[in-house]
Amino acid sequence: MATQTFAGGVILRDGKNLTKKRTVQTLFPKTGEMVFPLSQHVGRPAIPVVEPGDYVRTGTLIAKADGALSANLHASVSGIVTAIEPRKVSGGRLVRSIVIDNDGLFLEEPVPEDTSFENLTRRSAFRMIRDAGIVGMGGSGMPTAYKIRQADQSEIDTVIANCVECDPYETSDYRRILEDPWRVISGLMVLLTIFPRARGFIALSEKNREGYRLLRNLLKDNDRIFVRRLSEKYPQGSERQLIYALTGRQYNAAMLPSDIGCLVQNTDTLVAINQAVMMHQPLITRILTVTGDALRHPRNFRVRIGTSFRDILEQEGGLVKGCSLDDVVVLDGGPMMGHPVEDLDVPVTKTTSSIVVCRKEDLMARPETACTRCGRCVEVCPNRLSPLTLYLDLAADKKKGQNPDAGFLQHGGMECSGCGCCSYVCPSAINLTAAIYAKKRRILQDPVRAGAYARRYVRAFSGTDPAAGATTPKDKNRK
Ligand code: SF4
Ligand code: SF4
Repeated sequence: MATQTFAGGVILRDGKNLTKKRTVQTLFPKTGEMVFPLSQHVGRPAIPVVEPGDYVRTGTLIAKADGALSANLHASVSGIVTAIEPRKVSGGRLVRSIVIDNDGLFLEEPVPEDTSFENLTRRSAFRMIRDAGIVGMGGSGMPTAYKIRQADQSEIDTVIANCVECDPYETSDYRRILEDPWRVISGLMVLLTIFPRARGFIALSEKNREGYRLLRNLLKDNDRIFVRRLSEKYPQGSERQLIYALTGRQYNAAMLPSDIGCLVQNTDTLVAINQAVMMHQPLITRILTVTGDALRHPRNFRVRIGTSFRDILEQEGGLVKGCSLDDVVVLDGGPMMGHPVEDLDVPVTKTTSSIVVCRKEDLMARPETACTRCGRCVEVCPNRLSPLTLYLDLAADKKKGQNPDAGFLQHGGMECSGCGCCSYVCPSAINLTAAIYAKKRRILQDPVRAGAYARRYVRAFSGTDPAAGATTPKDKNRK
């Protein structure tokens, strides 16, 4: 069967073989300090409802959402709150956080009986998703309740479970589908209850044949959910490329998927929805791919939010023979859109999807040389941009002085998703992505400069800087 896809993109080296055959293991954090940043989402930081000295249990609400774009935060361990203070997050910034001394007992808050689909209503499902503090776990950090609320119930006809996982190393969705398919299906069914006119799609990579067969079999009698396999190309899991491949619909960066009748949720987010609505459990765990050529035992872990990178890497099994921490780079996220982590004591948050440990020698940047006008960056751009033109605009716009964004806007710079394809293929090693995407982010932080794009970004953030205080504010077109 032919797989569906989009124009452009790149085929990356496949690093999934390191972990795809290994079952997910549960990792319990060591006793001692756990850090819970109050900003693990795009909106305003959550407001603490505990104080130093309070005893909390697994599942206790420790901070309340401050507005529709904010999200509740719950303790993932039991123990005493020791501080509420700024702590470093993986991007290197300081973010106000709640610190809990994990006592290792994992005492739990009591939860009500499980819900059944028969007595589930749109209103009750929405309330439980909001209360559970669920955000887009593929990297966007967009509160899921907000995403649902701003979508018109009667206009949404397509709800997509994004299990494509186009990152070259991540396999958490792959394992999730094989080991726990009903939780993903059930999460999708909750959304189909909220959007009664919609059909559901589960989108997988073409290489995930086992998952495809399993889901097709499980859903053979279901006439609302369809399983589709998409090309293995990167960035097939990006929302725009995903929606286009499945429906043929297109939208621009000033619009939302809901403007063209679509709602997309990533795999872990659907599992969190299932747990919140059917089992009344808040978002306190996630699956994390911990991998890379420098690790001795790469695999997927079910980890508690707040666990430190150091704790995970120590329990993971260490580095390969002959490698020390001085020889490696630890990335939060994949090689295309992730960033290096300097301090391993930073916590896993709701949006951390993988930790990749590479040898420094494998990441050595080549020196930048002159553009050869080869056109490769144009060929691969999934958003049909000319990255070279945008790159040249950055310098030209500066010289003009009057409108410093004129050329950049005219050539569609705001459509850049920061996917990294242009830099990846550039034979002259020009870091086009960093320059173009940084410019886009600067524009978005100013509602006047952002203009029509304010609808999607600036207005959505209630006038706050989307980057301020967020732990990993990556572009939502990520997974
Ligand atoms: S980073 Fe931006 S300009 Fe470069 S290929 Fe991706 S979308 Fe196009
Ligand atoms: S890929 Fe690099 S060298 Fe080729 S046209 Fe683009 S910027 Fe120039």
